[in-house]
Order: sequence, then structure tokens, then C-alpha cells
Amino acid sequence: MYSMGTYRLAVIPGDGIGPEVIPESILTLTSLAEMHGGFQFDLQHFDWGTDYYLREGVLMPTDGLATLAQGGFDGILLGPVGDPRVPDHVTLWGLLLPLRQTFDQYINLRPVRLLPGVRSPLAEKHPKDIDIVCIRENTEGEYAGAGGRIHQGTENEVAIQSTIFTRKGTERIMRYAFEYARQSGRKKVTSATKSNSMQYNMVFWDDVFRQVAAEYPDITHEQQLIDSLGARFVSSPESLDVVVASNLFGDILTDLGAAISGSMGLAPSANLNPERRFPSLFQAIHGSAPDIAGKGIANPIASLWSGQLLLDFLGEHEAATLLMGAIEEVLARGQARTPDLGGTTTTHQLGDAIREQMRSMA
Ligand code: ATP
Ligand code: MG
Repeated sequence: MYSMGTYRLAVIPGDGIGPEVIPESILTLTSLAEMHGGFQFDLQHFDWGTDYYLREGVLMPTDGLATLAQGGFDGILLGPVGDPRVPDHVTLWGLLLPLRQTFDQYINLRPVRLLPGVRSPLAEKHPKDIDIVCIRENTEGEYAGAGGRIHQGTENEVAIQSTIFTRKGTERIMRYAFEYARQSGRKKVTSATKSNSMQYNMVFWDDVFRQVAAEYPDITHEQQLIDSLGARFVSSPESLDVVVASNLFGDILTDLGAAISGSMGLAPSANLNPERRFPSLFQAIHGSAPDIAGKGIANPIASLWSGQLLLDFLGEHEAATLLMGAIEEVLARGQARTPDLGGTTTTHQLGDAIREQMRSMA
């Protein structure tokens, strides 16, 4: 029994720097709720990930998905999951990809924005013009998991990884991209394609893109081959607005996007089931970063910004705006910076600085 305004969150801190950055998100969301007064969080933690795997042989319990599905959760906060001791594909297929697919989180929303006071490696050319929203298809395409290996270990070995593009799956990602553009006052949608060399799936992708685009005459549309679009992220990111991409292409473009925005430690994501039939999932796009894990120096902003996307999804726009404003202000002032941004501030100190800023702006 919960009163109005109580959001139930599943929290999976994950591996490496996850247990360092996720607590900062929790502290921040909790203090926002206290400051706001109109809502609160009810948190349930799950210790799933690599340690669980090394103990139990699985990344999460066999009824893990059912637990999340039936728990009445409004959202899932997930830290990075991955560890050098376990092959990456085992980790991904043991937790994250089943979550995305089972909960039909078909939108992977990834803002690529250069925040104030942050230096892009492109800084000389583009002082402050990066503001892209990538809409990545998140349940099918190249990561559908269809394929197999035969004659393993012999000289006749064959590996097949098929892509799956359905009309339903392709239409809904395109429509979301155009709706997003319209509702957020953006002007253009660029589709990442490779229809010159992939004559079935990507030609289909282009067809559906054009069909859906025709329903949105107020939004400009264009398509570009993924190879040259990647180059464009570097040479003229200011020319991009909303970018819609398949699972693989979106994955690659958004790491590139994080790099041009100054640090992997800043980039957030939302894995959305827009119809809210299943819980959506919010996660920094970075990995577990074993090289800096345990040192308390990871940048918590990617995780905090992912929490901001959660607030927006919950409809708590006022709190979301306050959090983003505080992040931007602290970065702009430049006093609190983790080592990835050239400073010596710790994870917790940067989190504290942002929370203090929120209080002074509230
Ligand atoms: P995984 O195998 O889980 O993907 P990874 O080592 O590949 O982990 P990534 O997150 O992909 O880690 O990032 C690559 C590098 O970027 C890290 O090794 C780390 O140095 C840096 N990095 C990532 N996230 C952060 C962060 N939050 N703060 C500071 N540096 C980070
Ligand atoms: Mg990685």
C-alpha cells in the first residue's frame, strides 16, 4: 500500500564503479524528493552482477525478471555490469539484454550534449554546439540474438549472426524519434543507415523511415550512411539534432557521442517502454571501468543525469530541471571536477557539490 507520489525503484548497483556512482544517484534523488515534498521513493536493492555470478553461476536469479515484473516498480536504476573475469557476452546476455527485451524497452534514449564548462576533445572547433538526442532501437536489429555456430573448432567452422528488423519494431522507433522531435521543439531527424551494402534490412529501414517521416511534414528528415555519419559526429556535430539508429549503430554512435562530449563519465541513458506496460531502466552508458574501480574517483554525473531522465519519465519535471540545472552550474563553475574532467574531486564530493547546489537553487 503506497500513498500517491511514492515511486518504487529497483536498484541494481552492478559491478566496478557501479557501487560507487549508484549511491550518489540514490542520495540525490532522495534529497530531491525531500526538497520537493510531493513525492518519495521506495527503494529495493538487488545484488545482481558479477559477484552473484561467481557465487551462483548466473547473473541474476532465474526468477529475477519475474521479481522485477511483478514488483510494481516504476523504474529500475542499473549500474554497469561487467568484469574482466567473465566474458562480456555472458554478462550482457545474463542481465541487461534480457531485461531490455523482456520489458520491451524498445527506446534507448541517449542525449549527447556538451555541458557548460566541459572541454570537448573537439573544443577548438566546436566550443559549445553539441546538442544531439540519439534514439537507438533497443530490442531487435543486430542484437536480436539470432544465429549460431556450427562445426565449432574445425576448419569448416561457420558463425552466423542474423539481424531482425520487424515492421512493428522499425515503425515504432521511427515514430518515437519524430514524436520526440516534435514534442521537444527539435527540427530534424537524421537516420543512420547502411543501405548501400545491406540491401535487405537497411533498405527496409530506409523505407520505413521515409514512410513515417511523411507523417511529420513539420520535421526535416535526412538519412546518412553510418560510416560518414560517424565522421560527421566529429567534423560537424552542431549539424545534428535527433538521430535515429539501429541497435548496433546506435551503440557505436553514442559511445562516440560520449567521447566528443568530454567524458564517458558524463553520458546518460534511458531504456524506455513508453507505454509503461513494463518498468523502464535508467543507466549511465559507461561500463564498470575496472581501471578506476575502488578508488572513489569515478564521475557520478552520468549516473545522476540518468536519474534526471528517470524523473522526467515519471513526470517530475520540476525536480528534473532542478537537478540538471545544478549539474550544469557545478560544471560551469569548474571547482568540483573528478579526474576524468581534469580535477581531483572524489565521486562523493562531486555528488555533494551538486546536492548543495540543488539546495541553493531550490
Ligand atoms: P565494461 O567492460 O563494463 O564496458 P570498460 O572498462 O569498457 O567496462 P567503459 O565504461 O566502457 O569501461 O569506459 C572506458 C574507460 O572510460 C574506463 O576504463 C574509464 O577509464 C573511463 N570511464 C568510464 N566511466 C567513467 C566514469 N564514470 N568516470 C570516470 N571515468 C570513466
Ligand atoms: Mg566498454
